[in-house]
Amino acid sequence: MSGLEVQDFLTSLSTRIIHALTAEVFDPADVREVGATLVAAHFTEPTTVERTMAVLSEQFGNAPARRIAQIQGALAAGYALALRDRVLEEQEEIRTAALWSQARAEEGRRVSDARFRAIFAGAAIGMSVSTVDGRVVEVNQALCDMLGYTADELLAMTFEDFVLPDDPPSAAELFADLFAGQREQVRIEKPYIHKDGHRVWTDLVASVIRDDEDRPRWLVAMFEDITERHLLQVRLRHQALHDPLTQLPNRTLFFDRLAALLEDASGDARVGVCYLDVDGFKVINDTLGHDVGDQLLQTVARRLARSINGEGQLVARMGGDEFVVLIENSASTEQVVSVAEKALDTVRAPVHVGGHEISISASIGVVEQPLQGTSTGELMKAADTTLYWAKADGRNRLALFDADRHAREVTRYELSASMPAALERREFFVEYQPLVRLSDARIMGVEALVRWRHPRFGVLGPDAFIGMAEETGLIVPLGRWVLHEACKQAAEWHRTAPDKAPLMSVNLAVRQMRDRTIVRDVKAILEQTGLAPERLQLELTESAVMGTGGEPTEALKALAELGPRIAIDDFGTGYSNFAYLRHLPVHSLKLAGSFVAGLRPPERPDPVDEQIVAAVIGLAHTLKLSVTAEGVETAEQASRLQALGCDTAQGWYYASPGPASAINLD
Ligand code: C2E
Ligand code: MG
Ligand code: MG
Repeated sequence: MSGLEVQDFLTSLSTRIIHALTAEVFDPADVREVGATLVAAHFTEPTTVERTMAVLSEQFGNAPARRIAQIQGALAAGYALALRDRVLEEQEEIRTAALWSQARAEEGRRVSDARFRAIFAGAAIGMSVSTVDGRVVEVNQALCDMLGYTADELLAMTFEDFVLPDDPPSAAELFADLFAGQREQVRIEKPYIHKDGHRVWTDLVASVIRDDEDRPRWLVAMFEDITERHLLQVRLRHQALHDPLTQLPNRTLFFDRLAALLEDASGDARVGVCYLDVDGFKVINDTLGHDVGDQLLQTVARRLARSINGEGQLVARMGGDEFVVLIENSASTEQVVSVAEKALDTVRAPVHVGGHEISISASIGVVEQPLQGTSTGELMKAADTTLYWAKADGRNRLALFDADRHAREVTRYELSASMPAALERREFFVEYQPLVRLSDARIMGVEALVRWRHPRFGVLGPDAFIGMAEETGLIVPLGRWVLHEACKQAAEWHRTAPDKAPLMSVNLAVRQMRDRTIVRDVKAILEQTGLAPERLQLELTESAVMGTGGEPTEALKALAELGPRIAIDDFGTGYSNFAYLRHLPVHSLKLAGSFVAGLRPPERPDPVDEQIVAAVIGLAHTLKLSVTAEGVETAEQASRLQALGCDTAQGWYYASPGPASAINLD
């Protein structure tokens, strides 16, 4: 081609690459074709690909990195394939010539030998002929150039001199088969050492030439220098397995490694995973900018890689501000914990970026366990859960996976998720526990206590699910249902025994008090069930009475105006502030069971507890509030409470919670 023709030719190829860069959907076929066209036009110098790659990333730095990589990959693949095909053609020609020359009768041999010799000497690919016992007897110039030795030097070498530790594992066997005549040809990618020390990767094809009696005599080997392609592959592979920002192994490499470990898990081998997340990284990123964020991540990565570099320890970036350390062949939980502590320590040193000194910390979830019986998914989920524990416990710390805690959380989650359906399926029910007047032991009220008849776990008490119901908000419909059940029951008692019907005391959760509909709900339920408002008592804890700002909740006044009594539940466990009670529409206090538990029999009195109970009762009475003692379990407690002037009591000593039918109204 003339200079102009070359220019035209390259321009047309460049246009095709630019098209591929900007195309909406990337089609690798067209770019591969560009690579092949280069080979067809004899642009086969090894530097061709290298320069093309460099120009691509220099000139199109603004294009998406992924697309550049795709184009580089496709171009290299097209180029390499075309080059290989070309070499194969050449090799085939040589092989045919060699066989042909050998097959010719004596008189033809000179002619065919000459032909073979010409091809051999002038071939662009390296060639050698050796004996089947491994002596090199002929080499061509291309092979000398490729390996940097003179022909004489190469001829003085034997097969063994070319064996390298990174030869493909099957190489020795394949050649043995070849020499033994069990195989006609071998093709492998094999490295050689150039005289000046660098590694030359070759695509090696070796064929047996047999003598007249069909015994293997010679080995003809052809070497294509594929160093460029090999290095490109190595580089592309590195790119695919490393994170461009920090140069750490990426998640793909991490998961490959972990999967390989799990695959040949044997005996009692153990594994450790430390899942690290930089605390508050988003804030840093958002306030100081992404550049600072990036530099910070690079610093963290560098520190982690430097401090955690033991044998079988891999530090990878999972993405964002998450890093992970894989400890292959963990010796013990302690070992993995100490690696995690080291990671926490190195991250804690302040980072200087962009004129800022930033103090950072990290949280780590640590999982350490036998390899057998686990999977990548399970292991990573455990690590993730544990990281969450570390965050929830206040960050800047590590948490160690605890299978029991995890199982409890899973159960909790399952319970929580199945509650709405359970409410629909009527798996909840209400029990009633008497509130007894201490002066005459009469039942003056009952407290409604909800239970869950769970199909798998049996009857669950409220402690197992009320908290969750508050978290999910299900407490609102559940509480409404309990209130309706209880009011219906109370109205029923009132119809059958108007004089003796007990007061109905129902618990309201904090979350219910924060919900606007509570006042409407109570009003509606009273109307629907026909219960007189003063026959209902609502039990609110101190935190349900007081809003988050320390002010009484709006709902409280509105509820009280509807007419039910208001009781403060578990008094003594919250603010226990009498000052606010003075101005609130509250009618009674329920003294928490822990105070009652402190009332000891007279032979072992605890004067302080007794004095507290006495003081609370005294103050409550000053404020015109009645007092109910909870958790009364013994006759002594009952009589102490009575002596101290307490009005009502509730507890197993009188009766446990039970069905409505168990309440005796006589
Ligand atoms: P609470 O309102 O303080 O209810 C009294 C708790 O003390 C009940 O527990 C009751 O079974 C228990 N108890 C009764 N007598 C004794 C005794 O002599 N000794 C001891 N140690 N305990 C006794 P339960 O039924 O497990 O209820 C626990 C809590 O769950 C209740 O505490 C209440 O705060 C809540 N709860 C129950 N039902 C509901 C409901 O329908 N809605 C709401 N929001 N909370 C409810
Ligand atoms: Mg209560
Ligand atoms: Mg209580």
